[in-house]
Amino acid sequence: MTQSRRTFLRSAGIAGAASAVWAPIPTQAQVSNALAGPSAADLKDRFDPWIEVKASAVVHNVSQVRSLTEQRPILAVIKNNAYGLDLITAARILEPMPEIHAFAVVKVGAAVALREAGITKPVHLMAAFPENLAADLAHLDIQPCLFTENAPRLTQIMAQAVGRPISAQVYLDTGMSRMGVPHDQALPWLEALVRDGHVRLQGAFMGFTEDPDYDREQLERFTTVSDAASERGISMGVLHAASSSAVFELPEAHLDMVRPGMALYGGYPNDPALQSEKARLQSAFSLKARVVRVQQLQAGDSVSYGRNYVAEKPTWVATVPVGHTDGYPRKAVSGGRILIGTETYPVIGAVSASHAIVEVGESPKVRVGDVATLLGSESPETDPNWLSATVGVSIYDIFMHLNPLLPRVVT
Ligand SMILES: *Cc1c(COP(=O)(O)O)cnc(C)c1O
Repeated sequence: MTQSRRTFLRSAGIAGAASAVWAPIPTQAQVSNALAGPSAADLKDRFDPWIEVKASAVVHNVSQVRSLTEQRPILAVIKNNAYGLDLITAARILEPMPEIHAFAVVKVGAAVALREAGITKPVHLMAAFPENLAADLAHLDIQPCLFTENAPRLTQIMAQAVGRPISAQVYLDTGMSRMGVPHDQALPWLEALVRDGHVRLQGAFMGFTEDPDYDREQLERFTTVSDAASERGISMGVLHAASSSAVFELPEAHLDMVRPGMALYGGYPNDPALQSEKARLQSAFSLKARVVRVQQLQAGDSVSYGRNYVAEKPTWVATVPVGHTDGYPRKAVSGGRILIGTETYPVIGAVSASHAIVEVGESPKVRVGDVATLLGSESPETDPNWLSATVGVSIYDIFMHLNPLLPRVVT
């Protein structure tokens, strides 16, 4: 009996990331993670943390990116569990939007998971993959990026698997020294690649170092290769280079298409104070839980490991069962604030693995069972961009370190 492709991919260890359950939005918000187990209704008295994914914020951010780029088509980067939102949840929000041309991921398993979940837009894999997966990727209509020495062989296997030339993109290294064909070696490599007719180049791309002066030099290198290729009769197709940073900072890099990730989900790539003048992004997620404990400290009582905080006078404190294992940064103790009711309260003591504690003040203004918002656009101080800037944690870390096991609810 022949092994199904799905079984093959599972045994190769590359499928299986698609555990999320999806319900149509906005009719019914639903918890997406089977491991945590709650239904949406359970959230109404759940203490444990959950993540709300805001479909309307994603839609809003897409329109902001479009106006920054004179309506360029968007190759939506949804790598790394869609920046914490949950891969399939984010893909299902983005898929129906005509502004979104295609999806880009950096791991084979994520590309396969998108197809297994029924995503039909082009899926572009910005990663290397072994020859023994090439035929399966072709069958799944996953578009590879090419840059390795064995690229002619990969395209041959893929074209033979599907009985026609495959569509692919070329990854050029113009100065990151991370991935891609070095720009000064690209021409002979391109000539060898297109010689056998196994590939139609649909696009070519590069990544910026995000060093403002060097970015311009990188762009120059990119267009130089593209022009030289055209002169030799090789069309590289759609050119794209701009991630979120260049969407904001480098209009000349917007080219034929833009390739943001962070901005789509509500994170300013560099300086939120400056970049929010150019476009208003909304956090596409909120991290929430319920207050589990409220207590009055007496003068001299201390809070958490190392007795970091000692009460000087009688003071009410509250415990929220969310910690750094859930993705709330340890550094939030140095300036972070948590929203409970209509007020935000300072984080004190330490953010431990599963708990954060806030100073409520002289009166017990919060109660056990109140919803606490640790991250999200619900208040200025819980906006992830504010926390990032205030406590000195990368906005990328805040999004991408959200624990994938927490239930996601689309709201
Ligand atoms: C992550 C990534 C992007 C998106 O970057 P953001 O800063 O999140 O917009 C674009 N291109 C490549 C190659 C990437 O790895």
